[in-house]
Amino acid sequence: MFDYHHHSAFSVDCTASMPDVCRVAVERGISEIAFTEHMDFIPEEKNTGYFRYDAYMESVRQCRERFRDELAIVAGIEVDYCPDFENETGKWVEEREFDFVIGSVHYLRGKGNISEPRALGFFRGRTEREAYGEYWDLVLRCARFGIWDALGHIDLVKRYGTEVFGPFNEERHAEALDEVLSTLVTKRIALEINTSGLRQPPAECYPSAAVLRRYRELGGVRVTVGSDSHAVDHTGAGVFFGLRMARETGFTHVERFRRREGSAVPINLEFGPGDERLLQQKRL
Ligand SMILES: [Zn+2]
Ligand SMILES: [Zn+2]
Repeated sequence: MFDYHHHSAFSVDCTASMPDVCRVAVERGISEIAFTEHMDFIPEEKNTGYFRYDAYMESVRQCRERFRDELAIVAGIEVDYCPDFENETGKWVEEREFDFVIGSVHYLRGKGNISEPRALGFFRGRTEREAYGEYWDLVLRCARFGIWDALGHIDLVKRYGTEVFGPFNEERHAEALDEVLSTLVTKRIALEINTSGLRQPPAECYPSAAVLRRYRELGGVRVTVGSDSHAVDHTGAGVFFGLRMARETGFTHVERFRRREGSAVPINLEFGPGDERLLQQKRL
């Protein structure tokens, strides 16, 4: 069982130590974990300048040694995409040795982080079409920029959008989603199934089964599954649910990454000892 989106204290909004996360991952039957810390380029945001690459890689090295026989550790990064910093972003990623790079949109620059409760103000002042539209434009640009191994939480906008506009309706956003999904297929970027939405207001993954099915119809075959956990309580949360949804929507494999090279691993829904808790973790 893989968890391909996890934060540690190398991210500005997380205090969990990397060894603690590894220990809990092993206890819960996770066989492979990707630490995907936040990296931001927007100068006016507090996150920018927080991530320390050398210290992070050293911590990955130590954890690999300590958990050698129990856990595969993937050195990843979750880069916040902002179109104003494409050059800096491309250069920064290229100069470093990651296994796995997620591109995500969190900020509408000058309007805040749509994944924080403060975003409710942004949604309340706009129609659904306006608010979601601004986000889709950025996600499409993010996908087109194309330097990623996976696109993170494709419809994160529904995290708080749901509270203002009601349950997310894929059909109302089909055109925008199709553009993004087709771009992922063309650029061979994996679509992430981010299970954090299960424990947040939308109570469903980013994205839902309907979007996964559409991605499959458009020729998409590459998916990753991650809990986007920021605390050991959530390590592996929902990954079994996410994998099962992938299987039910027509995917046979998940992606594994080493030094930016993807390979397909058959989805295995069988449980080994220690895995039982994951079954209960849809909402943990
Ligand atoms: Zn994110
Ligand atoms: Zn994340």
